Amino acid sequence: MLITHDTECALSILVELLNTAPEVCGTELLPDVAALDAFVVRQEISEVDSLTEDDLRNVHRLRTRLREVFVTEGTEEASELINALVADAGTTPRLTNHDHHGWHIHYFAPHAALHDHLAAELGMALAFILTAAERDRLRRCEAPDCARVFVDLSRNRSRRYCDSRTCGNRLHVAAYRARQRSAEAVPSV
Ligand SMILES: [Zn+2]
Ligand SMILES: [Zn+2]
Repeated sequence: MLITHDTECALSILVELLNTAPEVCGTELLPDVAALDAFVVRQEISEVDSLTEDDLRNVHRLRTRLREVFVTEGTEEASELINALVADAGTTPRLTNHDHHGWHIHYFAPHAALHDHLAAELGMALAFILTAAERDRLRRCEAPDCARVFVDLSRNRSRRYCDSRTCGNRLHVAAYRARQRSAEAVPSV
């Protein structure tokens, strides 16, 4: 698999960001600047200045564009969306080894606003996935009432649910109950 550790980290930020949307979980999980701040800290996003309401609005807007790339079927269409994202972000690749991390590339421009920072980094991660022909690893959860997304990094690409501890289990329980119900419905002879 040609997915690097850096790309994997970017994809985990992408997945968390997409799954904060109100259409995914019924409530906005990034409702205010404080929540956005916590997201930045949790995901260890570097070089972020103090955040404002503008940042919050712009990140919400970016989230919608990123979801489109994630769920769009055609590679041609996805590549156009990614190109636009990365171009709008003013990407400038540069080497860095900040905070005792090994050498890696930052794609966002120095002092970029958070939405441009994320568009550059997450857009490039999506570009790498596309060029590695691994787009089928970007999945929507198959649980019927779940709109969460995830990246399937399993060797055999067999993951179907966003989180096996919640959606997967919930479905197993539902299937078990359905089997029990249909067993009860069979008239005893
Ligand atoms: Zn870095
Ligand atoms: Zn799910």
